[in-house]
Amino acid sequence: MSGLAEAVVDLGAIADNVRTVAAVTDTALMAVVKADGFGHGAVPVARAALRAGATWLGVTSAAEALALRGAGITAPTLSWLHRPNDDFDKLINAGVDVGVSTTTHLHAVADAALRLGVPATVQLKADTGLTRNGAGRDEWPDLVTWARKYEVEGGVRVRGVWSHLADADVPGTPGLARQVRTFSEALRLARGAGLDPDLVHLANSAAALSAPRTRFDLCRIGLALYGVDPFGALGPGAFGLRAALTLRTTVVNVKRVAAGTGVSYGPEYVTAAPTTLALLPLGYADGLPRATEGRAQVWLGGRRCPVVGRIAMDQCVVDAGDLPVAIGDPVVVFGPGDDDTTPPTVAEWARWAGTNPHEILTGIGARVGRDHLQERADVA
Ligand SMILES: *Cc1c(COP(=O)(O)O)cnc(C)c1O
Repeated sequence: MSGLAEAVVDLGAIADNVRTVAAVTDTALMAVVKADGFGHGAVPVARAALRAGATWLGVTSAAEALALRGAGITAPTLSWLHRPNDDFDKLINAGVDVGVSTTTHLHAVADAALRLGVPATVQLKADTGLTRNGAGRDEWPDLVTWARKYEVEGGVRVRGVWSHLADADVPGTPGLARQVRTFSEALRLARGAGLDPDLVHLANSAAALSAPRTRFDLCRIGLALYGVDPFGALGPGAFGLRAALTLRTTVVNVKRVAAGTGVSYGPEYVTAAPTTLALLPLGYADGLPRATEGRAQVWLGGRRCPVVGRIAMDQCVVDAGDLPVAIGDPVVVFGPGDDDTTPPTVAEWARWAGTNPHEILTGIGARVGRDHLQERADVA
């Protein structure tokens, strides 16, 4: 590795997580590999998930979908966020399903398809309470009517009807039942308009694992795929998911300092006693949030040590106390873990930063190398 830190991604964990979720849901699974596979590398994650039994890939944008196709991945893929002037020709030619939330987008997709003479395969998205993308109750009847019209004309084929949940990670939320009801009504209206979608889907990771009535034909899994418990457990959680990503680096400088030594910019940390400070070549440009100041820890020398002082763009300082630390010692910033006897987890970093694990994972900077550990079957 030539960089200063690496994100080591265990593709065996990705595969295990697919199997773990599949055993619970008994439905088809869509591996959500948007945002470069939540920072894990979309292409290797997609391949590992497909080998483990996922049958669909989900991405946000046309560019992400086309990058999968460019890597030779031909599995069914849904892309769901588009500008109305996106180049839909490319998606249609690449056989990517287009998520459609507005009639504006539907007209653009159908125009492209009719021009090409190749029907676009679309999946119509209903807004059932998230109030983000998707057609709301007012727009849905119009959207399904137009979609049916284009189907008859040969411009589109409606493969799917779907929606996204707002708070499935909150146990017992009344919002979930409301969204299921609204979704069922949207489905009824779609069928009433003459559509016959054979892929109906609503669940994300949290719902897939906990809410059977949200599962329909397929569950779209993001967080669980990467081994992070969707219900906020700091470790593997009740479902035994395996964290796939370990962020690690190496100590690049060590100093023994006296009590009263100011550390990093400010300084906002002053040593209380003589201690050993270890410098890590990893900062906020690499995804360590400054907001974790005063709380963050890393794994060094077989125990947890606090990150002290301000996290800088490229570096941060760890107070190792009286641990015998040397330049070149390995450090785990976060990885699979459970409690104080293991490295911190991404969920802990998220808590320290006041955010969610998704933001920490997708915030890992571009200069952190990605190192993919193949599943054991591949290595053999
Ligand atoms: C990101 C995303 C998912 C995955 O959600 P998780 O909670 O991470 O499983 C599923 N569906 C859509 C539409 C998404 O944008």
